Amino acid sequence: MSGDARGPDRRPATRLVAAGRRPEWTQGIVSPSVWRGSTVLYDSVAELRARQHDTHHKLYYGRRGTPTQWSLAEALTELEPGAAGTLLYPSGVAAVAAALLTVLSPGDELLMVDSVYEPTRNLCEGLLARFGVATRYYDPLAGADIAAAFTDRTRAVFLESPGSLTFEVQDVPAICAAAQARGIRTILDNTWATPLLFPAIGHGVDLSVLACTKYVVGHSDAMLGSVTAAPGLWQALRRTTYQLGQQAAPDDAWLGSRGLRTMELRLTRHGENALAVARWLAEQPQVARVLHPALPGCPGHAAFVRDFAGASGLFAFALKGGDDAGRTALLDGLELFGLGFSWGGFESLAIPADPMRTVAPWRAEGPLVRLHIGLEDPADLIADLAAGLARFEAVKR
Ligand SMILES: *Cc1c(COP(=O)(O)O)cnc(C)c1O
Repeated sequence: MSGDARGPDRRPATRLVAAGRRPEWTQGIVSPSVWRGSTVLYDSVAELRARQHDTHHKLYYGRRGTPTQWSLAEALTELEPGAAGTLLYPSGVAAVAAALLTVLSPGDELLMVDSVYEPTRNLCEGLLARFGVATRYYDPLAGADIAAAFTDRTRAVFLESPGSLTFEVQDVPAICAAAQARGIRTILDNTWATPLLFPAIGHGVDLSVLACTKYVVGHSDAMLGSVTAAPGLWQALRRTTYQLGQQAAPDDAWLGSRGLRTMELRLTRHGENALAVARWLAEQPQVARVLHPALPGCPGHAAFVRDFAGASGLFAFALKGGDDAGRTALLDGLELFGLGFSWGGFESLAIPADPMRTVAPWRAEGPLVRLHIGLEDPADLIADLAAGLARFEAVKR
């Protein structure tokens, strides 16, 4: 494999196939194997001492990884033009925690988007508060005007675009530019888009977080997270991650690499299927609103059109009137949609969604349902949802 196929001038789908496959890591086969190990053995005391000063991409101790993890991490870096490096974590939430702890210290203030994934909010209200970091929430639709919220204590802005459950698309470049002008760090949870649909570092983000559990793994069979750093924060991210003792297990990293090779293909199909289902839902009389970034009614749709290369498979819709009993009747009878957390696998999923807010209250015409559209034929999914909407209608009367 020449380095050319991985070059930044290659298109993303090409880089995705070649990324991270250094010959010294693949040892002459197509994909890196699973290297399992804790202890690394040295030939001499002198060699053991010398290695301590230069551990990057060198076997040192299991926690620093093996070619299995380095390969996936490097592949994720290659998908982010401008990035300096990537580290892996045993879950997406662990990656979020490492990113926050890389940039925050006691006495600092964090600006957190109000549409954030709930476990991230819990981390701020729990651990960060306990360690003296104050969190203030901001409206997901704030753009450059976020600068008005900066104080002398503001150290970081956390973004998630589109937002969890409600899918507001943020003006990421404007927020990052405003933050950078004040020396404030930015962290983006880019799980929905992945670097294929939104290369975050190129849009000005300092730390880009993925719950690789979702589209990178892609088969609902492993937990994994990553943080990709711009050059200015790469060393700080490494230090914090090593001090926290974080590393992904080699078998899970291998599943991540396995999933990554087909991610472009899967995302394309997830996106097409989801858009077909979303467009159908938008025309149903029982549906008040469809919250899908690629549809004009979604808050922040203009930013989506400007910045994203496409949509993935996750969106939500608000029912027209009705209550939790009606929504439950809809969900309980679904035959093709699993009821469960997480998403990004090949199968369709549905959950009742009840957004938690601090500064930008969530108001809708009825209860919210979040869907992950899998790789099934969308016509079958639509038939399943049509029966569900009929059950909702029957309870409503
Ligand atoms: C699922 C998810 C996470 C957390 O990932 P885990 O691997 O489940 O810990 C973080 N952010 C977003 C947006 C998610 O959907």
